[in-house]
Amino acid sequence: MKVFVTGGAGYIGSICVEQLINSGHDVVVFDNLSEGHQKAVDKRARFIEGCLSDRETIINSVVSNKSQIIMHFAANALVGESMVNPSKYFRNNVAYGINLLDAAIEGKVEKFVFSSTCATYGIPEVIPMSENLPLNPINPYGESKVIFEKLLQWYYKLHGLEFVALRYFNAAGASENFGEHHRIETHLIPNVLKVALGQSNQCKIFGTDYPTPDGTCIRDYIHILDLAQAHMLAMEKGKNGFFNLGNGEGYSVRQVIDTCEQISGTKIATVEESRRSGDPPRLIASAQKALEELNWNPKFGSLEKIIESAWAWHKKNPNGYNV
Ligand code: UDP
Repeated sequence: MKVFVTGGAGYIGSICVEQLINSGHDVVVFDNLSEGHQKAVDKRARFIEGCLSDRETIINSVVSNKSQIIMHFAANALVGESMVNPSKYFRNNVAYGINLLDAAIEGKVEKFVFSSTCATYGIPEVIPMSENLPLNPINPYGESKVIFEKLLQWYYKLHGLEFVALRYFNAAGASENFGEHHRIETHLIPNVLKVALGQSNQCKIFGTDYPTPDGTCIRDYIHILDLAQAHMLAMEKGKNGFFNLGNGEGYSVRQVIDTCEQISGTKIATVEESRRSGDPPRLIASAQKALEELNWNPKFGSLEKIIESAWAWHKKNPNGYNV
């Protein structure tokens, strides 16, 4: 199929693009390279450097490429940053995204696959978290995704634009060729592996007084290749709605650090810091709906496998996509 991918130069987008092309799809990547990297764009894809704020360009690009599917990864995605700069999140993730929705209508796109997040739920009352929980985000990042999900529902009702919103838990790991490189790294696993690589002296632990067994936050880490598989299943006709993507297992910050130590064979120095604003204590998915309705079949569920793949990529690419 002809797939139009926004944010295809970013971490999750680049690996989905690679997997889409490996499966025989024809891919156009649209990215403004503000967060992504030119080198992360699979050479077999057509690349358009552009911004979602440029309404004419985005509409022309979707229409002229006869796009059948849109996968929308382009977004700002940092909880902490969203707490200090909410305007950036509502502008880029919501306002400019409307241009892409209109492009989908103009181009008679068959399906819109949206990168959503477990941050839409806020602090869950029930663990593991199913799609039926109320959406009460506690940071502007999560709120921006809730609003976009609402827009998707209206565009479906009023224009018939079919959609799947995939609510990711914590995406991690790498494929052989593509991995996680943010210009300013805030994510746990790459930050811990930087210490293992000797690129930083210590890893910060944000909050040790959470109501969890070891006092640190618990997250459900999901391998990027398993996420990519879910995107391809979401493209299929008749599959619509909201799906959580996680492994149903939670690991604390300290457990992640311990596993990184084992896999890298390096002692990781840590420093305890206060809580990071906007962080819920515990997020664990129930992905039952995705398993049943998307026929999702995750293959790299263990934290060890996830971290092994990340470690292999970071060792091979110690400077990420910088030469
Ligand atoms: N975290 C940490 N040190 C870091 C980066 C993250 O302790 O250097 C914590 C963070 O506060 C959160 C968890 O690790 O509880 C996962 O954070 P990450 O930024 O990787 O993903 P998020 O859950 O925010 O999407």
